[in-house]
Amino acid sequence: FLELRNIRKNFDSFTAIDGVSLQIPRGEFVTFLGPSGSGKSTTLYVVAGFIEPSAGEVLLNGRSLLGVPPNHRDIGMVFQRYTLFPHLTVAENIAFPLRVRRRPKAEIAAKVDEMLRLVHLSAMRDRKPAQLSGGQQQRVALARALAYDPQILLMDEPLSALDKKLREDLQSEIKRIHAETGVTVIYVTHDQEEALRLSDRIVLFNHGGIEQIGTGEDLYQRPASAFAAGFIGNSN
Ligand code: ATP
Ligand code: MG
Repeated sequence: FLELRNIRKNFDSFTAIDGVSLQIPRGEFVTFLGPSGSGKSTTLYVVAGFIEPSAGEVLLNGRSLLGVPPNHRDIGMVFQRYTLFPHLTVAENIAFPLRVRRRPKAEIAAKVDEMLRLVHLSAMRDRKPAQLSGGQQQRVALARALAYDPQILLMDEPLSALDKKLREDLQSEIKRIHAETGVTVIYVTHDQEEALRLSDRIVLFNHGGIEQIGTGEDLYQRPASAFAAGFIGNSN
């Protein structure tokens, strides 16, 4: 399981997050929810290894990840947009992380086929990203992030550039893929409906700290603060 212990991150004199502590069991789907600037992405990037925290610990199965480079963390990541290599085909994009890890050719070919089936894009394997819709591109990004069987999948607002209908389709896809692969997911959104639909637990951020952690029902029925009561249930 993944554990964050008392994480703080300063950018010069500005404190972006402080006192962030969290335990995520293997296989759980956790969503970081909260207003813009509350520290969701910063916390995610600390887990990914793109940002080293100013204080605190990140542990995966009891072992510290601090100082471990992102590509050695057993973590896959999907961003909001522009995540694919534009000059590579769909199949080559998915193969890329396996090539970097010097996996055998036959294994790469088999894994690419498996991932294309997982995201229902087998027919698109030889297209370039520009020849795909936004939703299809995010499915390729998801396939690429999962290709090397990471323990943890991080997604930072992966659907926010898509229209409502497509977003709902992709939410169902992400739920199915989570159930099929059993990967631990940390998902960032400021859309509370999306958070409720997807998550086992929601982590509510406010001003660089965690306001409340609980199921969607916990947050709705038993908000722990005026902020939580005001944020949940109101459109944001
Ligand atoms: P959003 O919903 O808008 O994506 P967020 O919750 O992901 O917001 P963060 O990106 O984590 O917010 O940012 C938290 C705070 O840290 C913000 O005030 C932001 O301006 C600041 N911040 C983030 N990255 C940097 C950086 N590289 N340098 C300086 N300040 C930063
Ligand atoms: Mg963000």
